[in-house]
Amino acid sequence: MDITRLRGIGVSPGVAMGEVLLPRRVIFTSRKELIAEVQVPDELKRLRQAIDRTRDDLVRIKDGVKDKLGQDSSFIFEAHLLILEDPALVSGLEAVIRDEKARAEWALSKMNSRYEQLFESLADDYFRQRKSDVSDVLTRVYRNLETRREKEKTPQKEHILVAHELLPSEAALRFSKELTLGVALDMGGQTSHTAILARSLGIPAVLGLRDVSRQVREGDFIIVDGTDGEVIIDPPPAIRREFQAKKEKYETYGRELQKTAKLKSVTLDKVRFIPQANLELPEEIGPALAMGAEGVGLFRSEFIYLRRESLPTEEDHFEIYSRLASGAHPRPVTIRTLDIGGEKSLPQLNIEKEPNPALGLRAVRFSLRNKELFRVQLRAILRASTGKNVRVLLPMVTDVDEIAEVKAIFEDVKEELRRGRVAFDERIPLGVMIEVPAAAAMADVILKEVDFVSIGTNDLIQYFLAVDRSNEFVTHLFKPFHPAVLRLIRSVIQAARKAEKDVVVCGEMAADTLGAIVLLGFGLRTFSMNPIFIPRIKKALRSIECKTAERIVEETMKLRSAQEIEEYVTEEVLLRHPQVFLTGQPVEVPPKK
Ligand code: PEP
Ligand code: MG
Repeated sequence: MDITRLRGIGVSPGVAMGEVLLPRRVIFTSRKELIAEVQVPDELKRLRQAIDRTRDDLVRIKDGVKDKLGQDSSFIFEAHLLILEDPALVSGLEAVIRDEKARAEWALSKMNSRYEQLFESLADDYFRQRKSDVSDVLTRVYRNLETRREKEKTPQKEHILVAHELLPSEAALRFSKELTLGVALDMGGQTSHTAILARSLGIPAVLGLRDVSRQVREGDFIIVDGTDGEVIIDPPPAIRREFQAKKEKYETYGRELQKTAKLKSVTLDKVRFIPQANLELPEEIGPALAMGAEGVGLFRSEFIYLRRESLPTEEDHFEIYSRLASGAHPRPVTIRTLDIGGEKSLPQLNIEKEPNPALGLRAVRFSLRNKELFRVQLRAILRASTGKNVRVLLPMVTDVDEIAEVKAIFEDVKEELRRGRVAFDERIPLGVMIEVPAAAAMADVILKEVDFVSIGTNDLIQYFLAVDRSNEFVTHLFKPFHPAVLRLIRSVIQAARKAEKDVVVCGEMAADTLGAIVLLGFGLRTFSMNPIFIPRIKKALRSIECKTAERIVEETMKLRSAQEIEEYVTEEVLLRHPQVFLTGQPVEVPPKK
């Protein structure tokens, strides 16, 4: 018998199996139903009433979700209320009804396709995914055009939710921690709100499956493997058993890790380390703390810009930074100023295309060219710092002149706030990313100018080894264990320790078990990463003696290639502290050369 196995994007790990639930889909009309001129006022009224009903629904959902999932998740609906209030959207819909003398359904359908096209044309994945938020709001209004709505039944039994696309509000309403075992969708990706929600509720989910909703019927039995991004329809008993075992293994591992989140972050020989979170969205703060994050090591503020069509105002920034600062308080929150330019362009700004974007007007270079934008961001960060747990981080600094230039602006903005009697933390720490090799080489000098440094291994490796981090043809050359890379990173950590200044690693290397051990051996104590990796790294570092890590890296520095180093570290760790690799899966020991 043929088994249908579909590949998608695993956005929330774990294995689920059960019966399919297929919610009813709203399909926007493709028929332009015309009305007479005299009917136009009534149709406009019908639209407005649907908008009012939608507003009531959203407020109700927002409150319900706040009770069920907490303030962070209900934020999505505040965003939806804002979309609904957008005068351009409402007047656009009214204009279609008036100008084309067509039904409100047609206006909504037309507006929906227009937004779909607009979002699809955007290069940035995160921004592209925001299409579903607009669609969500329009769908709700569409449904509310019918006054006698068929009430959707709330599911009573355990199920796997399968749909073409799940709008964020539907996701928040339909996901039940108890009954929703797993989720499989045709659409969506890693950064969609639905993915974030599934992760925060611990529901295994696979998105981007293209046509799973057409391949299954309500009641079919399916397996969702959110860890490996796979869905299996109607599996025979042998496959069910295989996945049942995988599920149990994952759950045991998860329970182990969850226990770890509450344990102290110390190595076996009682050396304290600090796991922190890299965040892109403010609503991730709650789940990050639950996973054991002791603060935010990196908030990538560019997502504030990417989530909007217009430029964010000072209040937009302030609201987000305040939410982070109070959510994490008293733990620190490190806000990185805008890291954009080059290929991550801002649609709001018409940034010119550059021939070599990675080496172009990126990050702090961009901020220093667009000082007004930069000042807006700095003011908002300062205003959010009254709880004294906010730090500012500058991306892609290359030399001390840039730091001096930023400091002058920073001082000026502070002075402006003082004059206006606006409170802020007078001692707010200022740090820089060490992610350009020149900055790494000058770390001792740079450290005199700043309060802390954060090593961005993603870019540092890209620039140091001349390997594009997003080019699949050269991924095999992207080597965090390259001896040159290790020497460079070690020198930065040592310089920071000598200067008695805080040093963090916030690149992916901190989220890699072997990488974290090597960094620990170099003297690093603060590791910032995507929160889902925190339990794993915490578990690994709690299972090793810092002394062992130091000894291992000492030997490592004598080796000549990335492969030799990786093999050596793996073997030594396995020999001395095999519990580091508790993943439920055996670790392959590389053959000795
Ligand atoms: C890095 O470069 O390592 C980093 C953490 O920043 P980003 O991945 O946002 O460039
Ligand atoms: Mg970077």
